[in-house]
Amino acid sequence: MKTINSCLSCEGTILNFREYDENPMSGKARWPKEHCFSNKKIAVCSDCGFGFTYEYLSDDEISEFYNNVYSSSHASDNAPRVSSLNELTPRFFSQTLYLNSNIDLYDGIRVLEIGPNQVSALPAMNLFCKPQYSYYDQLEWPIIKSHGGRCLGSYASGDRILKDFSENSLDLVYSSHSLEHINPSALEDMFDAFSHVITSGGYLFFEVPDDYLFELLGPPHTLFFTKNSIKKLVKRHGFDIVNLSHWDGGARFNKNNIDSDENSIQVIEKNIASRLRSVFRKIILNNESIARIIKPFRLRRALPKALRNIPNPYDSVPYYRVLAKKI
Ligand SMILES: [Zn+2]
Repeated sequence: MKTINSCLSCEGTILNFREYDENPMSGKARWPKEHCFSNKKIAVCSDCGFGFTYEYLSDDEISEFYNNVYSSSHASDNAPRVSSLNELTPRFFSQTLYLNSNIDLYDGIRVLEIGPNQVSALPAMNLFCKPQYSYYDQLEWPIIKSHGGRCLGSYASGDRILKDFSENSLDLVYSSHSLEHINPSALEDMFDAFSHVITSGGYLFFEVPDDYLFELLGPPHTLFFTKNSIKKLVKRHGFDIVNLSHWDGGARFNKNNIDSDENSIQVIEKNIASRLRSVFRKIILNNESIARIIKPFRLRRALPKALRNIPNPYDSVPYYRVLAKKI
């Protein structure tokens, strides 16, 4: 069987191996009994700690897996609900505030998002600037379209990005909790492509889960990031780290609260959602500068309703947030 024999992040060749953990969804409806992750191992680099599916996966078998698990009900079950205030989708709002404090978000900034799902960063970004925004995702999503985003295709690969974009034609590539799903054998080409199309001084932003801290290295994740592996991966492709943050879950994340008889992720999500709502109430209703930003968009009238209906984040596991600058 074809395998990946050196670290995809640092190119180290000393690998350790471990089994995949079981995903809490496995055994539930739509989760196929046998799938492309069954009986596969995770290789873990002894140098940088990066983990990846060791045996070769084809794009087709990965697609088949997602078609089974996420078919038509994915959007309603697992993704944030469509609200009238997509600007405030917790994860994207938080990421955009973070970006706005680190880089200049100006009108016309050329942004590509990889795998935004149905809401994307665009509504939140539109609070700060009017980007030229395009994305790759399996479907063209109405929310993104209504905010001026352009779907370029369903599948992001290095080749596809190089076909759609010329050298130095992007100011920001944005990816939130998508890279951990890509085919490991496509990672190198994708980062090569990022490096080619992002202009010098432009940025790569991504957020990925810290599955090691969550103690769940399960399907369908194909890549398992560590701080060291992130540094080595971006540096090797011509980027300097501007900021690398780690969220350990803090008080929101407490594994002891997980009831093992329940779907653990859903239990955590419920707790997080209620905490997020109270935090958002505090931040938004009491913070003058945020209130000032929001006022011109006439969102305040809708706030009380929206705050009651803030959608859950996809998950609330510990994560890394990375901002890197193209040299
Ligand atoms: Zn490594």
